Amino acid sequence: MAHPKAPAARLWIRNPQAAFTANGLDASGGLVVSGGVIAEVLAAGQNPSEPCQETFDAGSHVLLPGLINTHHHFYQTLTRAWGPAANAPLFPWLQNLYPVWARLTPRDLELASTVALAELLLSGCTTAADHHYLFPAGLEDAIDIEVAAVRRLGMRATLTRGSMTLGTDDGGLPPQSTVQAPEVVLADSERLVRQYHERGGDAVIQIALAPCSPFSVTKEIMAESAALAERLDVRLHTHLAETRDEEEFCREMFGLRPVDYLDSVGWLTDRTWLGHGIHFSDAEISRLGAAGTAVAHCPTSNMRLASGTARVLELEEAGVPVGLGVDGSASNDASNMILEARQALYLQRLRYGADVPVERALGWATRGSAAVLGRAGLGQLAPGMQADLALFRLDGLRFSGSHDPVAALLLCAADRADRVMVGGRWRVVDGMIPGLDIAGLIAEHSAAARRLVNG
Ligand SMILES: [Zn+2]
Repeated sequence: MAHPKAPAARLWIRNPQAAFTANGLDASGGLVVSGGVIAEVLAAGQNPSEPCQETFDAGSHVLLPGLINTHHHFYQTLTRAWGPAANAPLFPWLQNLYPVWARLTPRDLELASTVALAELLLSGCTTAADHHYLFPAGLEDAIDIEVAAVRRLGMRATLTRGSMTLGTDDGGLPPQSTVQAPEVVLADSERLVRQYHERGGDAVIQIALAPCSPFSVTKEIMAESAALAERLDVRLHTHLAETRDEEEFCREMFGLRPVDYLDSVGWLTDRTWLGHGIHFSDAEISRLGAAGTAVAHCPTSNMRLASGTARVLELEEAGVPVGLGVDGSASNDASNMILEARQALYLQRLRYGADVPVERALGWATRGSAAVLGRAGLGQLAPGMQADLALFRLDGLRFSGSHDPVAALLLCAADRADRVMVGGRWRVVDGMIPGLDIAGLIAEHSAAARRLVNG
């Protein structure tokens, strides 16, 4: 189901204060949007080729392609800044959180997904990927719940059917009560693809298959998921090379380093995108590049858990598509894509030097992320691309005295879009989501969060 009835009237988003197109085009004159797509990109002084029924004066806005988030766990908005996990690295962080997460209910997930998506949308994000791998008894419809939340907010999403099949009884990290039988995982994966996965540039919902991580799934479910993804022609997602602990686990459990392990289960392909992708050797980076395997760089989470720094410039040089992810809200703990671009810029400058340009970080958050999710119709301002747009105003205190409007977005820490369009429809207007009762949502979500951690 593509967005129904995208307005056919031509809308001229006219003369923005500045524009970042994520390609070589000049959009100083703005854009013409029609039928849910970008019909024209206008250079300075250029007028639309045909009359426009509507005009939006963007003279006070910086115009960007809608930002694209490539890795998240929406449910974790319920366990943000929780004391027992606030100051720990990945493995103990997970071991403290698993028993809490095992109590997740359908209503909890609905509230958590709505909170995460609303936060993302208000930060200029139009497409979000979520990695959901918790299916305790009673929550078998988790992905269906997420689909409904995405549709209500009018965004796009790649929802991944995650899985955990290797519990503590078999040498894995998660408690046995949180793992599922492989045949249940595979049957539900196929159901979800058949029920929801859309194809084509205007797809609203896509489904991908996503065994959680080397230390929480078996080799068999990895291999079987790869075969199923190939048969159904959908993408594959997992966490890889996030921490040294994971590397040691792979050596001990499988006798392989993480990339060899990935290769051994049929995942070293351009169908795959990896969450984090930090601890790769030079040779592994070359192999990933040759295969076209993509990486979701999650700078805030990597700093929060002290996991390490992804070698983003070298990955890109090798041919690895790189996008950005906010990661789950228990390790960020924000779902803010424009701030994540700022974090990526600064973390990568720390590794490579101060000449990493602002535009490169914005490129990861837009065109790079679109490539990571295999969404050719998203992530750039160009004729024929989907009309997914983020517009920021620079009239707040934090921007006062700034000069270059595009640089100011990241350097002055823009955190909220003024207008966001998805498929030709305004989903954020004057910094608000029309029809969403944010105060009511916060009250209900906060109560659910307290119940969840108190058991
Ligand atoms: Zn993650």
